[in-house]
Amino acid sequence: MVTTRFAPSPNGPLHLGHAYSAIVAHDLARAAGGRFLLRVEDIDGVRSKPELAAEFRADLQWLGLEWTEVPAQSSRFASYDDAAQRLKDMGLLYSCNCTRADIAAAAVEAGPEGPVYPGTCQGKNIPGEGAAWRLDITRALARTGTLHWTDDLAGQQRAVPDQAGDVVLLRKDAPASYDLAATLDDARDGVTLVTRGRDLFSASHIHRLLQELLGLPVPRWHHHALLVDKSGTKLAKRRGSPSLADRRLAGEDGQKLAQALRQSRFPAGISLDPS
Ligand code: GLU
Repeated sequence: MVTTRFAPSPNGPLHLGHAYSAIVAHDLARAAGGRFLLRVEDIDGVRSKPELAAEFRADLQWLGLEWTEVPAQSSRFASYDDAAQRLKDMGLLYSCNCTRADIAAAAVEAGPEGPVYPGTCQGKNIPGEGAAWRLDITRALARTGTLHWTDDLAGQQRAVPDQAGDVVLLRKDAPASYDLAATLDDARDGVTLVTRGRDLFSASHIHRLLQELLGLPVPRWHHHALLVDKSGTKLAKRRGSPSLADRRLAGEDGQKLAQALRQSRFPAGISLDPS
């Protein structure tokens, strides 16, 4: 059974890029007679706006999609703690109190997500209270050996989680990082095909490592191309892309819009990023 999901964070309204992503995930599941899930990724209590979850459901319905909703991340904190404790027991996490500025100043090179953390706090036993916890990638890889994963579009990949440095798994300001929470939730929700934009491709290297360390099932991935504007920039509400809610409330036909997106007929100035 193929199970896909759409996992928006309720920190801003959905726009056309989200609609495209949800439709890709929905249609891949439907074509295989499988399930399409909605999971609200409200791990970040500070930035999440609870009222947006209802708006997301209204948007998906307007697009003509059908889904099964699974529990939001805010109801799953205990499972994140539990997994983090297991990684701590394996000696794979270390506490870190570096600020962004510390990291930028000490970083030797910039990775795809910004400067790579140079390991400043490793071995220092910083008091855990109020600190972030990072995964010691070198130790983790020594334990798992070489790993592979498969993207339906990009083919087989050798996992290179080390390119991002020692990632934070427990944040100072939230119960878990996106990487830990999403990996655990995808396993728990029985997701077999992780469908999302290519901007999150590099995260999948880390997720594959976490799956191996925590004994989770390994899905396949489908990282679709992103919708971009005339300047080649990813769509975002703050750069003036109208939200789906704006379009819906203005009386636009959502099912027609969904059909157009399926056929790669995009509104003026919007296209799929070929890179
Ligand atoms: N919650 C993430 C976001 O809104 C998406 C995560 C994912 O699809 O893995 O960007």
